[in-house]
Amino acid sequence: MFDVWKNVLAEVEQKIPHAAFSTWFTGVTLISVDDGVVIVGVPNVLKVKQLEVKYNDHVKTALKNNGVDFKEVKYIVHTKAKTKPKSREVTGELPTIKKKKVSLLKKPTTFQTGLNPRYTLDNFVIGSNNDLAVSVAKSVVENPGVKANPFFLYSGPGLGKTHLVQAIGNAILERNPNFKVLYIPISHFYSDFINSIQNKTSEEFTKKFRKLDVLIVDDFQFIVGKDRSQEEFFHIFNDLYQLNKQIIVTSDRLPSQIKTVDERLASRLTWGNAIDLQMPSFEDKCAILKSKAEFMGVDIEDEAIEYLADNVRTNIRDLESELNHLLAIADLKNITPLEVINDGYINTIKAPHMQALSPKKIIEKTAKYYDLTVKEMCSKSRVSHIKNARQVAMYLLSEELEMSTPKIAREVGVKDHTTVMHGIKKIKNDLKLNFSLREQIAGIREGLYE
Ligand code: ADP
Ligand code: MG
Repeated sequence: MFDVWKNVLAEVEQKIPHAAFSTWFTGVTLISVDDGVVIVGVPNVLKVKQLEVKYNDHVKTALKNNGVDFKEVKYIVHTKAKTKPKSREVTGELPTIKKKKVSLLKKPTTFQTGLNPRYTLDNFVIGSNNDLAVSVAKSVVENPGVKANPFFLYSGPGLGKTHLVQAIGNAILERNPNFKVLYIPISHFYSDFINSIQNKTSEEFTKKFRKLDVLIVDDFQFIVGKDRSQEEFFHIFNDLYQLNKQIIVTSDRLPSQIKTVDERLASRLTWGNAIDLQMPSFEDKCAILKSKAEFMGVDIEDEAIEYLADNVRTNIRDLESELNHLLAIADLKNITPLEVINDGYINTIKAPHMQALSPKKIIEKTAKYYDLTVKEMCSKSRVSHIKNARQVAMYLLSEELEMSTPKIAREVGVKDHTTVMHGIKKIKNDLKLNFSLREQIAGIREGLYE
């Protein structure tokens, strides 16, 4: 019984965009099937409406595919569902379900890949924040184990690491259906490893990894303190590497910043390619929002998109959830997303720190980051590290506050605004390939929004 409803949800999840699924189906449970009427419990009225109008057909098809006999599906507000938003249990009896083995979730191959098919390269929006990473990703897909091996991808949270590496795995599998591809968060690697020791199956554990063609390890930073797993991981890493098998690792920082038992081995993770994902620019954010809205099949005004892009400055995950929030309110109030904003229903997004960001703060934080006083940084000095700090400040004033170049010139003590234009251009260019500069700017940015 439990499985049937789970499978119904799983089938719907495969059919509709991820964002739509998590917005509309979280907390939706099956209450009962009585006299051919399927009663589905939904946390609120807004969701009831959305399910009735948009997703009823999906639910019906999935019920049918799972052998449920019914005449009608009814959605009712069921507050219990609200208290357990993530649970998907069946809370009532389901008498008319015919037993049927469902294998919807199984991949065509019997090998468990750990991959989620909703992450694809097609729905990963390319922007200035990730173009380099995407081009490396594509070369990995075209020549696994050859060009960028290992491929080490790092960034702060919510910037697309998991999406991109899973997309690589899916794309490789599509091109090479016989490949053994495994995606595994390092925490699972750790727990599987510990279990294998307890169950005396470590040999099988190791064997399973050694026969892979592609190993994707997510969130490598969590390896800290797990010394035995680290050793095991590095053995597997070495073996696969020597066999020219593709290894992909993500982390929220570089291996040099992660405490590992064997630093020499850890540094090998960055031998192939260490590429980062940056915060998207305003334009990148607009492109991502547009693509998500399009994917969900909803209409949203450009101004509403620009509002979100301008106000969400943390990461793409937050950007997505604010978009869902906005769309949910628009639906509830039966007005357009822009009207929601103009009527002040979501002014909570405007985080207080956003309004507090001033040119002064950017200048002070930048100077401090480079161990300079504001006076030193905003001087006429041509000493390279001082000049670099000044140019970074110019860049940040332009990116974060969209200040004009004459205004920036005044702030950083430069006479001519063309010097500012030149400085910003230089930083933008350097950012493409200078990873240390990327780190520096990411570090300063973090401080700006504390
Ligand atoms: P991370 O693993 O870095 O914490 P995720 O890969 O989980 O981040 O990304 C967070 C969310 O943002 C996911 O829903 C993902 O699909 C989405 N996302 C990130 N980058 C992009 C992008 N370039 N285009 C489309 N969606 C993106
Ligand atoms: Mg992740």
